[in-house]
Amino acid sequence: MVGKIGDAMKIAVLPGDGIGPEIISQAVKVLGFFGLKESLAYSSIGGAGYDEFKDPLPDVTLKLALEADAVLLGAVGGWQYDELPREMRPERGLLRIRQALNLFANLRPALMFPELVAASSLKPEIVSDLDIMIIRELTGDIYFGEPRGISKNEKGELEGFNTMRYSESEIKRISHVAFKTASKRSKKLCSVDKANVLESTELWRKVISEVASEYPDVELSHMYVDNAAMQLVSEPKQFDVIVTGNIFGDILSDEASMLTGSIGMLPSASLDQNNKGMYEPSHGSAPDIAGKDIANPLATILSLSMMFKYTFNDNDKAERIENAVRNVLSKGFRTKDIFSENMLLIGCEEMGDKIIEELENV
Ligand code: NAD
Repeated sequence: MVGKIGDAMKIAVLPGDGIGPEIISQAVKVLGFFGLKESLAYSSIGGAGYDEFKDPLPDVTLKLALEADAVLLGAVGGWQYDELPREMRPERGLLRIRQALNLFANLRPALMFPELVAASSLKPEIVSDLDIMIIRELTGDIYFGEPRGISKNEKGELEGFNTMRYSESEIKRISHVAFKTASKRSKKLCSVDKANVLESTELWRKVISEVASEYPDVELSHMYVDNAAMQLVSEPKQFDVIVTGNIFGDILSDEASMLTGSIGMLPSASLDQNNKGMYEPSHGSAPDIAGKDIANPLATILSLSMMFKYTFNDNDKAERIENAVRNVLSKGFRTKDIFSENMLLIGCEEMGDKIIEELENV
């Protein structure tokens, strides 16, 4: 546990690209409200890191993140970087910082706010009261496995290849995070794999089943990833905590996010062994709406709630932020992505201000 927030605590703030700076400004207002402006130190990452230092994860940023108690990140990416060599692309900066900080556990809640049921593409009875926590392993699997590359095969034809790989210890440590999370919720854990065809996930299933004996109060079930993708849209409320590997988690957590109406509402936490964390919205840099003051900053603001909960053990601030978001929504204020008839359309800046007004009252 990193512990309670205090004067010496440092939060690295990495706005990144696209809508990153706009949504981070709103989150910084919230940190300011709690008197934490002095605890913040800014640096660039992603395309902004490349523009400033010719590196999507500049040394200065990595040093700051390593020294900080928590990291707040906006988003990275943009079309202007698409032609850069892979190592220089913004997304590479993100993968590198996760790896360097050893952030192996990614927690993504998919929580349906009652006021937003109408914004979901699914029927209200399928999604109302939905509250799922997806735990994605973040530093292993096919995204990091070696060998990888594109080279000519024996026939002289180009061939792309990646390696899906998990070690026993990697599976064990994410399993413990999942069981501990499940034991604090409804004590139901579903592990998602493809153990019928992929050996690395066959091992995943074996190891997590062994770890289960240490958590007798949690009911463990297993599901193949293709079925899980179907069940998430047909009967999502059957799930409470889902744990899965990096690539399956990437896809399933985006799918789950859409159940709740907008990806602009969904926070995430990426934690190391000691609950030091990087906190960021689940969405990307949304270059299509950058600079227009229409982005939804609530996912980023809710990421702060996770920061207070998981890294600083400050449930009071975490709950105040969540309640402020609920109150703003129940008063009818909406950014464009979650707007529906008869609601009050506001921009990114104004949404940040509304949250601050509500924080005075909660
Ligand atoms: P995206 O999440 O940026 O956008 C998908 C859609 O959702 C877009 O229509 C966008 O306008 C909308 N959207 C996203 N966030 C929103 C918000 N807060 N408020 C309102 N609408 C929002 O995904 P994409 O378009 O596939 O990717 C854009 C760039 O972001 C790419 O360069 C991609 O690599 C990068 N990306 C970064 C991260 C990250 O930083 N963690 C994650 C995913 C994608």
